Amino acid sequence: MHTRDIALMGSSEQYLRTAAGVIGEMGALGGRITLHTSTDLAPEAVTDHLVVWVDADDGATVPWGAADIVIPESRVGEIERVAEAIEDMPAGATMIWATTAGGDYPVYIGPGLLGGGEAGAFWPGELVQGRRFLVTDYNAGRHYAERLAPLEGRVTIMPGEQSKTIAHAEIVWTELVRAGMTRADVVVALGGGVVGDLAGFCAATYQRGVRYVQVPTTLVAQVDSALGGKTGVDLPEAKNYVGAYHQPQAVIADTDALATLPPEELAAGYAEVVKTALIAGGGLWEQIRGGVGWESSRWPEIVAACAHAKLRIVARDERDGGARQVLNLGHTVGHAIEAVTGYATYRHGEAVGLGLLAALRLSGSDDLRAEVAELLGARGLPTEMSEVDPDAVVMATARDKKRMGEGPVPFVLLPEPGDPRPGSAVAPRELIAAVRELAR
Ligand code: NAD
Ligand code: ZN
Repeated sequence: MHTRDIALMGSSEQYLRTAAGVIGEMGALGGRITLHTSTDLAPEAVTDHLVVWVDADDGATVPWGAADIVIPESRVGEIERVAEAIEDMPAGATMIWATTAGGDYPVYIGPGLLGGGEAGAFWPGELVQGRRFLVTDYNAGRHYAERLAPLEGRVTIMPGEQSKTIAHAEIVWTELVRAGMTRADVVVALGGGVVGDLAGFCAATYQRGVRYVQVPTTLVAQVDSALGGKTGVDLPEAKNYVGAYHQPQAVIADTDALATLPPEELAAGYAEVVKTALIAGGGLWEQIRGGVGWESSRWPEIVAACAHAKLRIVARDERDGGARQVLNLGHTVGHAIEAVTGYATYRHGEAVGLGLLAALRLSGSDDLRAEVAELLGARGLPTEMSEVDPDAVVMATARDKKRMGEGPVPFVLLPEPGDPRPGSAVAPRELIAAVRELAR
């Protein structure tokens, strides 16, 4: 039980009062409750309070350095379960309570979550019980697997997108059976998006579905792939074509783990950060365009802001019915580039960066395209592609999963940051021109 006083923060005094009433009645968090709109809490008060940001999904900027818990207004009534989830959470970490039609779960973000030295990783033991079966790749496993002990079983795949196949899923399923995994146990996905998507898919299908925890260790995975419950594998013909929606029980994103990431992988993740900031607009975009997000001291804050932006969208639409499609910005052309190059030439994030440039050209946002090209280029990301047939890329966009029947491929366009337009039709002539512009 927490005995610290509680600082309830949020953008409107009115709903904070309601939330305080609900929380006070339950006595769930212990402590005395004070209300704070925006960021009027003194820095000294932040450290000795449990700071709970009640999120109204109104685009208000969360004070990331201060918040211990971010909980949607709609879940204030479940504060007891939420409070249980932060037992033993290391100081400096933030927990965002993710809500989806398929289930709610805590997303922990911050330094120190995987422990280090003698200390093991933080684990939400009350919430996620059962024996742990690890799925990882050679790189992430080498650095962090031991911290997640005790492990009942361990499957290690080769690093890289070429491991995200149905053949690798079969290897994982088989290893899990051999290690004796049952439905009472938990899969732990430790690594980047490749491990997360593959292990999540295996968890969705093994014995028709077992629980899993995402432990993302790349920037792509921490801001994007570990969140939202999309799992799956690639086909040679098209990206992410076989999969399932399956929400994790928890996500544990230790931003310190980004320190061992090769610079090119960090850059690839930065493309997804730019994508998220373009979709969210507002304060996040201003920070990213101003160059924030590259220095490690700002990782906890930027990862949390991007994760939160994605989780807000997934909360509205788990299964891509409408709202969630905005997250596909840059991905129609990006996925097509990955498929025609056999998943071997470009990292996912690099292809997405190129896809963003095409999407901004199609949106008629010429100045924004130039600005984004500069941001990506400054991180060493490609802004042009060589030895890729642009016409083959255009052909491959026809396999976009958002396409219905023989209808047009729906694009996400972005006239302005913060104003994504999903389901937009694009004239073939313009698409060809936008993709050819990328080819050198
Ligand atoms: P990745 O998983 O291949 O990881 C990149 C490289 O970093 C690998 O070599 C890996 O071994 C290594 N690595 C991972 N963590 C490390 C660490 N902490 N230190 C050192 N090395 C480390 O690639 P990725 O960019 O993380 O993920 C890309 C995949 O994610 C793509 O398949 C993409 O489709 C998928 N994705 C899925 C979603 C989703 O919603 N499910 C969203 C975005 C991306
Ligand atoms: Zn992506």
